[in-house]
Amino acid sequence: MQFIVGLLILVNSFVFLFINQGVYSGIFTVLGIANFALILINKKGGQQTQQDLENLVENLNERSSKDKLTGSWNRGTFDRHLNDVYRRFKLFNEQFFVIFFDIDYFKKFNDTYGHEAGDRVLKGFSECIIKHSRRDKDRFFRYGGEEFVIVVVKPNIPPKEDATVIIKNLRKAVSGLDIQGLPKVTCSMGVGFPDSVKSKEEILQEADENVYRAKENGRNRAYLDKDTVII
Ligand code: GH3
Ligand code: MG
Ligand code: MG
Repeated sequence: MQFIVGLLILVNSFVFLFINQGVYSGIFTVLGIANFALILINKKGGQQTQQDLENLVENLNERSSKDKLTGSWNRGTFDRHLNDVYRRFKLFNEQFFVIFFDIDYFKKFNDTYGHEAGDRVLKGFSECIIKHSRRDKDRFFRYGGEEFVIVVVKPNIPPKEDATVIIKNLRKAVSGLDIQGLPKVTCSMGVGFPDSVKSKEEILQEADENVYRAKENGRNRAYLDKDTVII
C-alpha cells in the first residue's frame, strides 16, 4: 500500500512538473523521487528483518529439537515423530519399525578415561550412525544417556529383511569407528515392529526387550525377535 501511494506521488510530481514548469514543481518532483527512494529502501529493510526473524525461528526450532552433545534429534522430537509414524501406520498402513541401540559397557569409558572421553564416544557413535544411515527419512534420535533409536519409515523391502540389512550395515560401520585413544565401541540392538494390535508403547517395549536379549546373550549383537539374532 505504502509502495503504491509512493508511486502515485512520484507520478503526480512528474505530471505537475510537465504542466507547470517552475522552481516549486522542480522541488516537488525532487521530493517525490526522494520519498519513493526511501520507500524502496524501507521495503528492502523490512524484507531483511522478516528474513532475519524467519532464520531466528528456524534456528531456535532446530536447537530445541536436537540433542546438544551429539547433534542427533532429541527425545521430545522422537516422541512426536513416533506419534506421527504410528498414526500414519494406522491410517494408511505405512510401514515402519524402530531399532534401539545401547552402547556396551559405556560406563567403563567414563570410569576409566573420564566423562569427557565418554562424551566423545557418544558424539563419535552418533555421527557414525547418522553418516551410515541410508535416507533422511530414517531419523536417528538420542533416547537418553547412551541409548539411541532409529525410526525407519516406508521400507521398500519387507520390514524384517530391511531391518537385517540396516543392522548389518550399521554394525559394520560401528566396528570401523575409531575414537582417538579409546578402545573399540560396540552396541547391542533390538528391533520393534508394529502390527494390527500393538500400541506404540508395546512396540518400544518389544525393542527394549530385544536389546535386553542382546545384552544377556553376549552384547555386540541385535535381536529382531526372540528367535532371530544378527551377529
Ligand atoms: P551395558 O553394557 O549393560 O549397557 O552397560 P553400560 O555401562 O553401558 O550401562 P550403564 O547403564 O551401567 O551406564 C550408563 C552410563 O552412561 C551411566 C551414566 O553416567 C552415563 N551417561 C549418561 N549420559 C551421559 C552423558 O551425556 N555423558 C557421559 N559421559 N556419560 C553419560
Ligand atoms: Mg543403557
Ligand atoms: Mg549401555
